[in-house]
Amino acid sequence: RLADLHPVKSDSLLALIAKANADTRPEKIDVGVGVYKDSQGRTPVMRSVKAAEKRLWETQRSKSYLGGAGDARMLQLLKPILFGPHAGDERIVGLQTPGGCGALTLGFNLVAKANPKARVLVGTPTWPNHQPIIAGAGLEIVEYPYYDRQERRICFAQMVEAIGAARGGDVVLLHGCCHNPTGADLDEAQWREVVRLLVERQLLPVVDIAYQGLGKGLEEDAFGLRLVIEACDEVVVAQSCDKNFGVYRDRVGALFLKTGTANTSGNAIKHVLQIAREMWSMPPDHGGAVVRTVLDDPELAADWRAEVDEMRARILAIRERLAAAHPKLAFITEQNGMFSMLPVTPQQVDDLRERHAIYMADSGRFNILGMADDEVDRFVAAVVEVIGG
Ligand code: PMP
Repeated sequence: RLADLHPVKSDSLLALIAKANADTRPEKIDVGVGVYKDSQGRTPVMRSVKAAEKRLWETQRSKSYLGGAGDARMLQLLKPILFGPHAGDERIVGLQTPGGCGALTLGFNLVAKANPKARVLVGTPTWPNHQPIIAGAGLEIVEYPYYDRQERRICFAQMVEAIGAARGGDVVLLHGCCHNPTGADLDEAQWREVVRLLVERQLLPVVDIAYQGLGKGLEEDAFGLRLVIEACDEVVVAQSCDKNFGVYRDRVGALFLKTGTANTSGNAIKHVLQIAREMWSMPPDHGGAVVRTVLDDPELAADWRAEVDEMRARILAIRERLAAAHPKLAFITEQNGMFSMLPVTPQQVDDLRERHAIYMADSGRFNILGMADDEVDRFVAAVVEVIGG
């Protein structure tokens, strides 16, 4: 019976959000949840998005079904942003998905269909939804340490060793940029080494790129992805527009595949469409139509790029303030994106919550943008006090 289902262990991040919401202290700072906040602590609808929505409202004549692949023009417009000079490669095909989660789910289910024995190499820590999505597709997970919290650096030797020990056909999950939860990205030489190993050992890369533009820039953040696309015969890319267009709740993402020929890619995408048909049939249209409207208009697209630059500038400014506040925080400027992990114990995280009304994950992961401008000083002071000396 449904009533006999075992109790569900609540997602620790969702539990943290609920706890923060229930806290009525006016000085509360919630750096747990991963959404962009502006200088006043709001998560606004972006200007370019608002303008596109207005235009859509005025011009959209029908909400009839669009089809399983979603908005074809949106996919075409996303390609150059992701793949740069490889955008015209006919072996790269895609479909729109409900967010990055939808893309990852389809991607791993496709892998399981093609090769149910494939194992998926996952560096830890990683975004906590990765493992459940992979396990949900029925694939075996092989974890390796990606980040050393004490040393505050990537365990690159262990990553290389794990990839070097993989079997042909195994899958390697890679964060395209702005690693969640650590903020620690591979540098260019490390990407080259990883790509060399992928090719040598005939492994299948799945690149998850959910924060393009929020690290070093739209182009720079695609460096690793483009290297992978250029070198590897087969690639799976799970993309999300939810962060860089600020359309979180509208669920906009895309899955792109590359295989050896345009024909085999076309066939693979038919399998993906079949999997999607069983899951959600078609992606929601509104967010995708907004992204398409923005990118299809030079003026709106330029404004969107400027807004992404503004978001990134805010991230960099706060990273610099934190790094300057304490020698133990100096590493924060070497990282990218919305997240970083503070060198704190779970007890210190409790302390920040109880005494300072500052909410973050037990791991010390915090959203750099979780605070308004006038909260930064208090956040920095509280962290410095808690970590001591
Ligand atoms: N990948 C990573 C690394 C993420 O952090 C997220 C969102 N937190 C996603 C994918 C999925 O994003 P979406 O909300 O578009 O499903």
